[in-house]
Amino acid sequence: MMKEKIQELAKTIFDDVVANRRHLHSHPELSFHEVETSAFIAKKLDELGLTYERMADNGLVALIKGEKPSNQVVALRADMDALPILEANDVPYKSQNTGVMHACGHDAHTSSLLGTAKILTSLRSEFGGTVKLIFQPAEEKLPGGASLMIKEGVLQNPTPQAVIGQHVMPFIDAGKVGFRAGKYMASADEIYVTVKGKGGHAAQPQQNIDPVLITAHILTALQQVVSRFADPKTPSVLSFGKVIANGATNVIPNEVYLEGTFRTMDEAWRAEAHIKMKKLAEGIAESMGGSCDFNIMKGYPFLVNEEKLTASARGFAVEYLGEENVLDLDIWMAAEDFAYYSQVADSCFYRLGTRNESRGITSSVHTPTFDVEESALQLSTGLMAYLAVKQLGN
Ligand SMILES: [Zn+2]
Ligand SMILES: [Zn+2]
Repeated sequence: MMKEKIQELAKTIFDDVVANRRHLHSHPELSFHEVETSAFIAKKLDELGLTYERMADNGLVALIKGEKPSNQVVALRADMDALPILEANDVPYKSQNTGVMHACGHDAHTSSLLGTAKILTSLRSEFGGTVKLIFQPAEEKLPGGASLMIKEGVLQNPTPQAVIGQHVMPFIDAGKVGFRAGKYMASADEIYVTVKGKGGHAAQPQQNIDPVLITAHILTALQQVVSRFADPKTPSVLSFGKVIANGATNVIPNEVYLEGTFRTMDEAWRAEAHIKMKKLAEGIAESMGGSCDFNIMKGYPFLVNEEKLTASARGFAVEYLGEENVLDLDIWMAAEDFAYYSQVADSCFYRLGTRNESRGITSSVHTPTFDVEESALQLSTGLMAYLAVKQLGN
């Protein structure tokens, strides 16, 4: 039985997967600078006798061809970059690159996919179809490694019928996974605004154009985009986390600077909202005698898990680890560059539980105390291999 064989292999290679994860964890590299990480992956692929192609500088793509006849192709994706965070964990595998940390679990994703590759290469004679391994750089930074790899042809020669990715989730216990069919994660755009007025003595407002008051109106009015213009059925978030008016009790400043984020799950609405926000802000500033530079830096699109693929992957996960260990996820307004694959190919992005409360492993991703319960890596390697062979029709 394929399932038992994969489970046995996942067990056999588990120590190796953990060692690889720890190596990557202690040698984190920032987005677009994953040179050593990429070399490490290349070395491991060499050891497996797999050839690979480089893409988007530090990205690697390799194929594992099953020996049974089939022209089906499935792609498995892992990201590899770390974050500019100073690690606060006191662990033997603590980051040796001060100020850089694998705080989003991409070390776990990469070591898992290397483990999956090992399982699949040793099972090559027992399945049909091709598994495309995508080791992707720069998930954490615009324009995102996924968009670059797609531009460089990662989804061609051969074209996969399905792209599957997994991501650690510290809110789910290790030993469990979570799926959601349909819209799952949001698009995320960065907003940079400068509201311009005319500063002066706060005791003489009639001689000034107060950009602070203009900003107050703009901030309030912009919430209409979410509460009045957005379709209530389409999740939308608009938050401004930075508002700088550098005046004083008695000084009205010349300008106010704002930074925010707009997130939603519909590309047409997203484009429309950009226009509406800009128009609203500029109109308000102008009507109050000031002006406004409203700039939007487009981020990742929304992530959609193809319904049929996700339903079948969920079903295979139930086969692999039992109904009680497969959860249904809610939508999540964070962004992820896997979304680019999901916009052009049938894709499924699922969550791997990595929480262990008894060991204090509960911190959110992107925090200095984030860690993963490593026992989850036996599941992550085996499940990915199982999903691949089943998705290929074996
Ligand atoms: Zn992240
Ligand atoms: Zn991540």
